Formats: sequence, structure tokens, C-alpha cells
Amino acid sequence: MAERKVSGSTGEILRAIREGRAQTRADLAGLTGLGRSTVAQRVGSLIASGLVIEAGDGESTGGRPPTVLAFNAGAGVVLAADLGATHCRLEVTDLGGAALAVHQQELDIEDGPDKVLTRVREAFADLLVEAGRAVADVRGIGVGVPGPVEWAHGRPVSPPIMRGWDGVSIPAAFAGWSDAPVFVDNDVNIMVLAEHRSVWRDLSQLLLVKVGTGIGCGIIVAGEVYRGAQGSAGDIGHIRVSGHDDVVCRCGNVACLEAIAGGGAMAAALRRQGLDADNSRDVVDLARGGVPEAVQLVRQAGRLLGEVLASAVNLFNPAVIVIAGDVAQAHEPLLAGVREVVYRRSPPLATQHLRIVRGQLGERTGTIGAALTAIEGVLSDAAVERAVATRGT
Ligand SMILES: [Zn+2]
Repeated sequence: MAERKVSGSTGEILRAIREGRAQTRADLAGLTGLGRSTVAQRVGSLIASGLVIEAGDGESTGGRPPTVLAFNAGAGVVLAADLGATHCRLEVTDLGGAALAVHQQELDIEDGPDKVLTRVREAFADLLVEAGRAVADVRGIGVGVPGPVEWAHGRPVSPPIMRGWDGVSIPAAFAGWSDAPVFVDNDVNIMVLAEHRSVWRDLSQLLLVKVGTGIGCGIIVAGEVYRGAQGSAGDIGHIRVSGHDDVVCRCGNVACLEAIAGGGAMAAALRRQGLDADNSRDVVDLARGGVPEAVQLVRQAGRLLGEVLASAVNLFNPAVIVIAGDVAQAHEPLLAGVREVVYRRSPPLATQHLRIVRGQLGERTGTIGAALTAIEGVLSDAAVERAVATRGT
């Protein structure tokens, strides 16, 4: 990431230590331009809060060696939930995002918020026991859901596949059990955050396209998740593609990308050809098994996705496009189709260094992203200032 100007607030000092940009009080004084006594006082309050520890002596440049400061990822835990349409993955992680305990199960999101969130809370309680931590150690909770979310309040808004969840406050389900802040976002936003922070941190602009049952796109602009004015940025599944005006989408329009290239649509198309395919995973299995109808269909989906992404490249000029989700497991025909169209249709300047790659984090993508959403929320500059002020140090 480009060198950030450091104002020297306690939150920024913590971030400089977390990101390895400063290891000693002298480094921090140099980075911020603050006097040594101010740095010492702010570091002291971070040590008192448990977020920073003194991790031994550094290299001496003559005289007493300086004390090395380190972020204490064990100062608390976060709870991360990746809720899909039919499956969920839950993790307890430390404040660095390392998994301490993991649980996965089949869970139908359409069982509704009461049943699903009660199950999630119970499973979190079990995971905390397994990780040897208490509810009081929980600093934040991150939840990803398969639908659009009003970010400020953690409420799904008219989600197409989450019957019963419209307008329901997800944070309210944890009130009375944990008083940690709850951060809720849609699945592609948490996935793009995970890939960006874990793999592509130095890049400012990144797109992640999730191709599962449906299709959506997460966007990183200037290093941060971009949600748009109403939180619906990246909803590319309902962009119109050419040559399919006879296909009616569940949204009521015709020729939507998702209605042809989504995993659910492809499974239906294969069934019409007499093949046994219930869902996107079956499509992938058939394509990987070399069944010609499936390989051809996935490549065709890649081309249609490429058509939409070529426009996105023109508008947005990303450095990398990450393709993730179930269907990305059939990577060769899908990526070949995407690359074929994007490199042909987008201008040379935009594609000269553009990389189109498969996601790197596999089944942990969603929980890593949910954990990072919570960690970045509870360790934001403003939140750290508040936490330190509350302790009266
Ligand atoms: Zn549609």
C-alpha cells in the first residue's frame, strides 16, 4: 500500500505497530514526528490496554538496546460467521485473524433469522470453550450473509434468497450474550476484504467476482471496500448480456448475467440436457470430470462474465480480478472464457498489467473476511481512541 501519512493518534500508532512499520518508540517518533514523551505516553496506554506488548530488546546502535514493541494478537478474540445459502462456517480467531477453533455445518438460510442466528450463537459458545476463551474476551463479531446489507445497521435489505430476513437486525441477535460490536456485510464484500488483505495488500484497486449459485462482485477502491451510495455496488449478476433475451431472471428482467452464467442456471441447463446436476457444485464436478456439455457451458459462462467484466475494466481499471466461489473450482474453462473476452474487449492500457486469477484462500475466504471486518472495526482509529480513553489512561 502507498506510504500513509501518520498523524500520531493512538489508533494510528497501534496500526503502525500491527503493520510492522514501526518496532520501537524511536521508530514511532520518526514516523509521526511526535516528541518522545508523547509517543511514550500513547504507547503506555496501548500497553495498559493489552493491545501492545514489549517483546524484548532490538538491535543496539550503541548504548542500551531499544525495546521492541509488538501487537498482542492474543489480547482478545473475534467471532466470524460466513453464512451461505445452505452452509455455514464459523471461526473463533485471534486479533490477527488466525483461527483458534472452527465449525462447519449445513444450515439453510431460509430457515429464517431466529433459527439460524440462535444456532450460530450456540455454536460460537461451543467454539469459545474449545478455544479456551470466555465470552468476555470477544472484542468483535463479524457476519457475512448471502444478500445485500444495510452496512450501518447490519440489516439485510430485500435479499433475494434470504426469505424472512428483510430488515432484521442481525446485531440484535447477539445482544445480551456479548456486548461486543457486530459487523454485518454481504458475502462478496467480506470475500474481497479477505483476498485483498491476505494476498494483494499492496494493490489499491481490486475486483473479486463470486460465481456460485448467483454472481456478485466485491470492490476495493483505494485499499478499502467500496459499497456505493446504498450498499449495492458490485451487484453485477443483473447486468444484461447479449443474445439471451428469451431468458427471464428471478428479478423479472431478461438476459441477466446470473440467469445464464450463475451456478443455479447452469445446473438447470444441464438437467435440460438430461444430466444429473442439482446445484453449482454438481456443475463443477461434471466440468472437472470432462463432461463436454458441462465444460462448454462453463466456458460460455466465462465468456458472458468476461463481457460484463470488460465493461467493468473500462470503468474501473482494476489491477487484479479475482474469481472465487464454487464455480471458480472449475477454473480452467471459466477463467479461459473470462480472459478471452476481457483481453479482447478492454483497452490495451487497462489490460496491459491486468491479472485475472483464481481466489487463493479457498473455503476460509468468507470467515477470514468476516474476522477481518470485525478486527478492522474494533481496531479502527476511532475505536482505539475510545477504548483507551475509557480506561482513563
Ligand atoms: Zn436479474
